[in-house]
Amino acid sequence: MRQPLVVGNWKMQGSLAGVEALLGDLVSATPAAGVEVVVCPTYVHLAQAVSLCRFSSLTLGAQDCSHVQSGAYTGEVSPAMLAEIGCRWVILGHSERRQYQGESDVLIAAKLMSAAEAGLRPIVCVGETREQREAGAAQAVVSTQLEEALKGRANLAQLVLAYEPVWAIGTGLTATPEQAQQMHAFMRVCLADIANVDSAATRILYGGSVKPDNAAQLFAQPDIDGALVGGAALVAADFLAIINAAAA
Ligand code: PEP
Repeated sequence: MRQPLVVGNWKMQGSLAGVEALLGDLVSATPAAGVEVVVCPTYVHLAQAVSLCRFSSLTLGAQDCSHVQSGAYTGEVSPAMLAEIGCRWVILGHSERRQYQGESDVLIAAKLMSAAEAGLRPIVCVGETREQREAGAAQAVVSTQLEEALKGRANLAQLVLAYEPVWAIGTGLTATPEQAQQMHAFMRVCLADIANVDSAATRILYGGSVKPDNAAQLFAQPDIDGALVGGAALVAADFLAIINAAAA
């Protein structure tokens, strides 16, 4: 039985006052039983967020981390530093980092190992572009991303995957529940093949314009175990509605 997981990716948004207000609304809401909820603010807001959530069931994640624990890497933040301040999760390989920071599968694999070493739970994102889908290459792209990130790695017991079709992120376009289910089922088969994990027990999230009005249909699919939510995670009522849909 895989526990539903809903993760909010706040991207590069927020302010001290905004974080306090949004987390205040989330923490004061009655938590939906049985759903694990994670919020990922920017690095600069993480310590504040950990403190605001300390008496709640919400846990915190980072949106990225370095591939090493310390050293001469100007501007980087290590998994060990994140773990020390109470961050429990980390998103890796988000398509915006692949696109704007040029992150490769090799670098993502190194970050994955480094995160696991520090005890952070990794959420590894994969997904195809619109052009790749239209060319019939969606499964090939996703399986390559999975293989490069996971093959031969140890310490994957805490692994969570997120299928995030690039064409659906922040665009208002969502994969249909059938398209998403098909890819999630395929990812589970790939996972069993390439990684030393229990693929039936590994949670696979869907991400890409998840909103209160499409969440329930996505969560009804047998291989969709929750969501990685961008825009709708910045509005407390919307994020709570998505969490409630995951609980239903
Ligand atoms: C994301 O940032 O991972 C994401 C899925 O964004 P959105 O929900 O806004 O499409």
